[in-house]
Amino acid sequence: NTFAEIDLGESLNENIRRCKYVKPTPVQKYAIPISLAGRDLMACAQTGSGKTAAFCFPIIAGILRSPPIGRPRGARKALPLALILSPTRELSSQIHDEAKKFAYQTGIRVVVAYGGAPIHNQLRELERGVDILVATPGRLGDLLERARVSLSYIKYLALDEADRMLDMGFEPQIRRIVEQMDMPPAGQRQTMLFSATFPREIQRLASDFLWNYIFLAV
Ligand code: AMP
Repeated sequence: NTFAEIDLGESLNENIRRCKYVKPTPVQKYAIPISLAGRDLMACAQTGSGKTAAFCFPIIAGILRSPPIGRPRGARKALPLALILSPTRELSSQIHDEAKKFAYQTGIRVVVAYGGAPIHNQLRELERGVDILVATPGRLGDLLERARVSLSYIKYLALDEADRMLDMGFEPQIRRIVEQMDMPPAGQRQTMLFSATFPREIQRLASDFLWNYIFLAV
């Protein structure tokens, strides 16, 4: 019933303590062990439920546990290991801020890319290297078209507020993004889908993007 009891690794646990998180929220309590065990997850959870940590902790713990092999350094394209898709600039920026705290002093680099802001600064950040990319679907589509990001090293994919992303009309962009992850030489990815509601369109995304997934409603 405390984070210390979950096997998240020393450096992440230290950062969790620094954030003053002691007890997992319900979504964290169930989602984190499922994801740490390598299973895909469909989680119905509201804003304020602590879902950011629920998808960030397993991603960070997973990267620390099995560091990437064979990923070229200083590649022209950014080669993130994890992708977190979120509907808006505000939410992406919040996730970025939290993820940076969780990844503090682990060597894991978190970069954010959203629309409505100049792309140049984001490109410069990406050029310095990225492990976890937080992005809105539109801006990521742009970066992929410019061939500045490759998704062939993605091992973890989290979709946050998926119902809102569909309401905003992002489904075609999201599908194009996920298709690129399924192209060789991409390896097997682990996927977490978070949504406040579970209508038919989200059910369809879940069956298209997730493999043998566990359904969680809190
Ligand atoms: P979220 O639903 O991810 O936006 O989180 C809502 C708020 O709860 C954020 O301010 C988090 O920093 C905070 N929070 C998340 N998990 C915990 C936890 N286990 N203990 C205390 N605060 C938390």
